[in-house]
Amino acid sequence: MHYDRDRLLALDLEHVWHPYTQMRDYARRDPVIIWRGEGRRLQDVDGRWYWDGVSSIWLNVHGHNVPELNRAIEEQLQRVAHATLLGQANVPAILLAERLVRIAPPGLRKVFYSDNGSGAVEAALKMAVQYWYQSGRPEKHRVLSFVGGYHGDTLGAVAVAPVPAFHEPFYPLLRDPIQAPYPDRYDCPGCRGPCRLECLNRLEELLRSHAHELAAVFVEPLVQGVGGIRVMPDGYLRALRELCTRYEVLLVADEVATGFGRTGRMFACDHEGISPDLMAVGKGITGGYLPLAATLATDRIYEAFLGEYAERKAFFHGHSYTGNPLGCAVALANLDLLEALLPQLPARERLIAHELERFRQLPFVGQVRQKGFMVGIELVGDPQRREPFPWEARAGWLVAWRARELGLLIRPYAHVVIFMPPLASTEAELQEMLALLYEAHQRAIPDLERAARGEWS
Ligand SMILES: *Cc1c(COP(=O)(O)O)cnc(C)c1O
Repeated sequence: MHYDRDRLLALDLEHVWHPYTQMRDYARRDPVIIWRGEGRRLQDVDGRWYWDGVSSIWLNVHGHNVPELNRAIEEQLQRVAHATLLGQANVPAILLAERLVRIAPPGLRKVFYSDNGSGAVEAALKMAVQYWYQSGRPEKHRVLSFVGGYHGDTLGAVAVAPVPAFHEPFYPLLRDPIQAPYPDRYDCPGCRGPCRLECLNRLEELLRSHAHELAAVFVEPLVQGVGGIRVMPDGYLRALRELCTRYEVLLVADEVATGFGRTGRMFACDHEGISPDLMAVGKGITGGYLPLAATLATDRIYEAFLGEYAERKAFFHGHSYTGNPLGCAVALANLDLLEALLPQLPARERLIAHELERFRQLPFVGQVRQKGFMVGIELVGDPQRREPFPWEARAGWLVAWRARELGLLIRPYAHVVIFMPPLASTEAELQEMLALLYEAHQRAIPDLERAARGEWS
């Protein structure tokens, strides 16, 4: 296949508005234009191969062009590409729901489909609020979330946890969530000594004083992703579950990033043996193939929506492509592969941890954080004082641009370099990717030195 790169780039610049991208800046960086993928790598239209070091934004599980996943879509395509789920059913949506319930934390027995993670979070928010409304407690309609949390970009998801850098223009459209400090194991003095989970005190105070108006607590279980791969101390999530039960507030686990093996277990909640009342999943659900997401709910929540037709208690929410058969079919095939892969993850996780050790000695590295296949390397201008680079320095990008030169695609968040390889990456592939990341960091040292002096472009 031969593509005219110049023409494609001109058309791209003319017509495509890229997400999370300053378009004035975009062209200057000589954008990568992908035309195909194979295994853990992607190829651009000039024929250059790159490792997919962030799983195409945290989605990809088994790699690209996976025969089993391709076949699942091809076979479903012979039958039907789409039929609505509004008031009728389709075969893959039924089978996937049963499968999700089987692997999800116990008690989550109902599956509501949507097509992206933000939508799944938003559905959870609406379910929580409508649940209390229909249970005779309409005053319970606020949410509690954690500082640094991220739950998506649609307005409902932003209302759960606005990220100041992204969402400030929309503040007038939102109702403030109540925000609890995030228990970051890496920054907590308690975590360095004998941990007594003192971080729970403030949370409990907030719950005590706001429970009467709170519908739900939203949490990214175990790891804040966009917040910079921040890991909770052991036991926190379990304690949060108990507090939510005690104060009669629903617990919503946003497993959009952490679900489907990303933290080393099927779901992050599994590490602590807890069941949330609602759970949002997306990203890895289709192995990174098609846009599909879901909100899982307990019977107790579901039953609050049952009533006579005239009572209007149904969940009036849905999308054109809800429960898309192609997406559900590939999700089923993804789960077949993933269940076979899970036992191999601990060894790969340890290998990543081992390879990361030497990153700690690199200049400008403040912290190296990891949970499963989620890695965050925090860059600091002044390692002694652990002072992060300012946003304008684009410190993470200084490393990411070097990585790209070396054939590794990653996408940082501000001053945190994020590495999130596909779960099926072999040990040799992980070693190769981490060697490139290390070299990229070394090459970026002069750039980081300039940035530390306040010189950035
Ligand atoms: C990515 C993400 C979302 C949003 O999912 P989209 O599919 O991008 O809408 C929500 N929550 C978390 C924790 C995420 O990482």
